[in-house]
Amino acid sequence: MRDLERCPGCNADGQRVFATSISKPAAELRDDWSVQVAHMHRHVIERDEQELGAVFCPRCGLVYLSPTFDDDELGRLYSHEAWLRMRGELEALASTADVSLSEVEERGRAFRPHFVRSRIDRHVRGPVSSLVDFGGGDGLYLRELAAPGRRRFVYDVTLPERLEPGIEGIGREEDLVARAPYDLVLTMNTLEHVTFPGQTIELFRRITKPGAHVYVEVPYEFSGLVYTKKVTLNYHINFFSKLSLENLFRRQGFRAVSIEIAFLPVDQYEFYALVGVFRREADPLPMRRPGLAWKAEIVEAGFRRLRERLHRRFAFARIPWAKASA
Ligand SMILES: [Zn+2]
Repeated sequence: MRDLERCPGCNADGQRVFATSISKPAAELRDDWSVQVAHMHRHVIERDEQELGAVFCPRCGLVYLSPTFDDDELGRLYSHEAWLRMRGELEALASTADVSLSEVEERGRAFRPHFVRSRIDRHVRGPVSSLVDFGGGDGLYLRELAAPGRRRFVYDVTLPERLEPGIEGIGREEDLVARAPYDLVLTMNTLEHVTFPGQTIELFRRITKPGAHVYVEVPYEFSGLVYTKKVTLNYHINFFSKLSLENLFRRQGFRAVSIEIAFLPVDQYEFYALVGVFRREADPLPMRRPGLAWKAEIVEAGFRRLRERLHRRFAFARIPWAKASA
């Protein structure tokens, strides 16, 4: 594990730890959460106990965990074998608990490409002749974004052997940069996993030109309710608010066209996600100070989290995408 002394988003110092906890596996594996924690301790950080801190950056408003994974741990975390092993453990648990992992996943796979398409159609202006999904696996979410003469790339360090039809794979960052510029960069559920999200967004700046767009989805799990829970070893490291997401893009010259909170199926769950569309300007933009807006967001995010849990427990509030895929 490595300690972060500066903000991994904006590189500011003067960071504030506001909560700490000790992470250790539960004696009994009773839900997916405990399976993940046990997996991380055994296979990734290779220790029985780890103290973690939740840190707030007073400059950009990002909340993140420190210490975080070092390079060796990240390698183990994202190795294909480790991933398959944890997946197997989760599947085994789901089969005994009569929970269908695949049902929500299937709905998600059917619905998400349409959702992405709807936001691109609504917010992206100007021709898109090449686009890339950063961290996009098999390219599923680009399924609805085909157009005559348009090249669709997917960049992933663990690129699957089989990609969606018409999608070109890129496995190395050098190749991603060599094929630039892109008119549209998409990244879904990636920025919460990377150690330095500020550097990833800087890379987006390097591979785009003014007028290009970035489409981003990250979990909206930003609330006191959550990070006391999250200060265990899950593989989310960064917790974005609308404000911090916008700030990290602004400092690289991306102006928000739209930032919304949407209820989306992701993997085996349904989450509130922040969905942002940003337009690249020529120059960096000043960041906004986290202040009262940040506090108001904690309340809002806490409310969303509560609704997420109620929904998971009693599926009474059917949500629009459920109808769309029915
Ligand atoms: Zn910061």
